[in-house]
Amino acid sequence: MTKEDIQEAIEEWQKRLNLKHWTVEISDEIPKDINALAETHPVEGRYFATIRFDKEFYDCTPKEKSNTIVHELIHLPQNRLMQTLSYLTRNTSEDTKRAINDLIDLESEFITDWLAGILSDAFPIPKSLM
Ligand SMILES: [Zn+2]
Repeated sequence: MTKEDIQEAIEEWQKRLNLKHWTVEISDEIPKDINALAETHPVEGRYFATIRFDKEFYDCTPKEKSNTIVHELIHLPQNRLMQTLSYLTRNTSEDTKRAINDLIDLESEFITDWLAGILSDAFPIPKSLM
C-alpha cells in the first residue's frame, strides 16, 4: 500500500461525499493522539487539510482503512463549527475553554463515527485500498 493508493482512495471518497472543493494531503507526521489511527488538520480559513496516518493504519483491513478515511473526511465540514466555537470561547477561562472543547470533541467523534459507519457500508471500498 503506497501513499498514492491512499491519496486515490481519499479523492474517491471526496467525490462521493461532495467534498471536492477541499484539498487534502497526506502528512508524513504521525497523529498527536497516540490512540488515533488518523487525524485531520484543517487550515483555518482555507479548504485545505492534511491527514496524518498512524503506522497501525497500514495493517488495517481495506474496509477499516476505507472507514477511517470517511471518518477523517467527515471532520472537514465540521471545521467551521469548531472555529466558531473557538471564537465564542476565546474570552473564557482556560478551564471553561478546555471543558467545552472536550465535550464538543467527544460529541463530534460520536456523530462522525456513526456517519462514517453508515457511509462506508453504503459504498464500495475504493479499489486502491484492496
Ligand atoms: Zn475523529
